[in-house]
Amino acid sequence: MSQKNDTVSCRSCSSSNLTTVLDLGETPLADRMPSKEQLAEPEPKFPLEVAFCEDCALVQILETVPPEVLFCDDYPYFSSFSDTLLEHSRANVEELIEWRSLGPDSLVVELASNDGYLLQYYKQHGVAVLGIDPADGPAQKAIEKGIPTEIAFFTKQFAAQLASTGKLADVIHANNVLAHVADTNGFVSGIAALLKPEGVAVIEHPYVRDLVEKNEFDTIYHEHLCYFSVTALDSLFRRHGLYLQDIRRLSIHGGSLRSYVGKSDTPSDAVISILEEERELGLDRVGYYSAFSSRVRKVCADLLQLLTQLKANGASIAAYGAAAKGSTLINVVGIGKDLLNFVVDRNIHKQGLFMPGQQIPILDPSELLAQMPDYTLILPWNFADEILEQQSQYRESGGKFIIPIPEPKIL
Ligand SMILES: [Zn+2]
Repeated sequence: MSQKNDTVSCRSCSSSNLTTVLDLGETPLADRMPSKEQLAEPEPKFPLEVAFCEDCALVQILETVPPEVLFCDDYPYFSSFSDTLLEHSRANVEELIEWRSLGPDSLVVELASNDGYLLQYYKQHGVAVLGIDPADGPAQKAIEKGIPTEIAFFTKQFAAQLASTGKLADVIHANNVLAHVADTNGFVSGIAALLKPEGVAVIEHPYVRDLVEKNEFDTIYHEHLCYFSVTALDSLFRRHGLYLQDIRRLSIHGGSLRSYVGKSDTPSDAVISILEEERELGLDRVGYYSAFSSRVRKVCADLLQLLTQLKANGASIAAYGAAAKGSTLINVVGIGKDLLNFVVDRNIHKQGLFMPGQQIPILDPSELLAQMPDYTLILPWNFADEILEQQSQYRESGGKFIIPIPEPKIL
């Protein structure tokens, strides 16, 4: 299914040459988990439609929900609840400290610094840090840990203001935020303004190639506006005098890119070869994305059939992990209270709330052992290894896990 859209322009190059490649219908906001009192109110739903820009190759959703609606004060995501993410961050920091010879006179800035999960490792090594994050709850946590944090949206103006007070960064981290900001160009031009001439920005986000190849449609939600290929990134950065100097593919979050971006156009062999590979595979053309939609429909139908069949055979089913992708999955597939008894999550801020759209209660993970559902669907399948290890007792007691992506599988 492909159709042209004339009303919206590309988030990167402003072209109106956008073609829809996947339409997931209307879904509730993935991180807006209603409380018991809010269950009586109607939940806002917004269209979730993915399009490809024929001019700069950027894959993007068409709807922009205002950030004050998306990222409200009670935004419940705290990065430090994931062991995998913490270990990933620590390794990244130690490598950069050594490579860039960072010390007390250096400045490392993280955009969307959350609760200081990454900057804390720089602080332990005596490197000066500054976090910037608009979410009050996690930012206050960071400040309590002694990590200076500005509670603000990072914009071109905010970067210029910091730069005018002499705050320029040796290293800027931006993990899983570039794809989430509504003003993509303003954000990148802010990075250019805040970065020292020899500085490096280290930017991570999911890779659209992994999304398409592994059917990761549940990583699509309203907060996640852009789905980058290296081709699309290269074009975005160049517009602001920034250049891809090195790039790595990472396995985290179902397949991500880590770009090293600076002010000189000196691409590594890795950058040159990944751009070439994308041209060969066709990531810069709409045809690459057109078969994706029918594969997604099949995964959804197969998962619904599996759960319905298990339930019909008398099994009880729960789910693990009230992550944003879990919300997309249950709402697009249509997994309701009739199929799932409850969802568990380690994040105490989510416990007691309900899954968006389907009103399934979120409980403490100890409920898996207490209630022993026959099957548990893993919603954040990107952390499946970590979850399987934590829940070994549930498995030893006869509980089985279901992984939904790239195709439904019982473990
Ligand atoms: Zn474009």
